[in-house]
Amino acid sequence: MRLALFDDGRLGIVDGDNLVDVTEHLTTGDPGAAGALHRHIENVARGGAAETGPAALTGLARIPLSDAVLAAPLPRPGKIIGAPVNYLDHKAEMEYTTSVADLGVFLKANSSVIGPGQDIVLPYTDRRTDQEGELGVVIGRTAHHVGADEALDHVFGYTCVLDITVRSGEDRSTRKSFDTFTPIGPWIVTADEIPDPDSLGLRCDVGATTRQRTNTADLIFGVRELIAYASSVMTLHPGDVIATGTPAGVGPLGHGDRVVLDIERVGRLEVGVDGSRAVPYARRPGRRGR
Ligand code: MN
Repeated sequence: MRLALFDDGRLGIVDGDNLVDVTEHLTTGDPGAAGALHRHIENVARGGAAETGPAALTGLARIPLSDAVLAAPLPRPGKIIGAPVNYLDHKAEMEYTTSVADLGVFLKANSSVIGPGQDIVLPYTDRRTDQEGELGVVIGRTAHHVGADEALDHVFGYTCVLDITVRSGEDRSTRKSFDTFTPIGPWIVTADEIPDPDSLGLRCDVGATTRQRTNTADLIFGVRELIAYASSVMTLHPGDVIATGTPAGVGPLGHGDRVVLDIERVGRLEVGVDGSRAVPYARRPGRRGR
């Protein structure tokens, strides 16, 4: 099942070329900033979600997918966990000497999320801002010290994530947390449709060029190990997102670029790039050289 947010926060199930509007069927009241899909994921975790089989959806409004404006499925996740250096070919291209096994995980600000069709806003005119195409894991059940063998029981589903990154000297959490730096979507595919997340083809294009092409089989920490490791550090809550890391082929984005991330069985996420508000790096706030 593919679940999407559309048209100012409505919740839909993708059915062929249509969206079935399940907003009132699956949620009640104002879902707040985290959105209706986040609320649904919490309902599922509590065992309190309504049925989503074909019979339960009969009679609900259907909208052509082409008429809907999709939004980020999780506009404000509780947390966004990133995996640094989780493919060997990316480790080699960046000349890193360490990997996720040494570095652990990092956090991105949850205010950095945008949805399909929106623009990544470049902060600096003279520092690279790179695309990183990644498989995203959406947590479905609270996970605390979960073993790798039971990790997938804690997954709600999967989505496409772009982990946008400035190449500068600051801490990773800073370089990856600018507003608009975490495009997510176009929807969440539920875990039952992806029995093995460690065997998915992934491709990321910028304009007419394919920059990244891999299979999640090449992850250093696969999805199970990432959940096991991350949950040994911090409790994972329903609706948290893990960006699993990027393969070789990261590169600079420029004003007007289109970025397309396509993950097998998950979906295709496309966003734009806006460099019109970029400023010189030296003009960033703060007192330096002390
Ligand atoms: Mn990354």
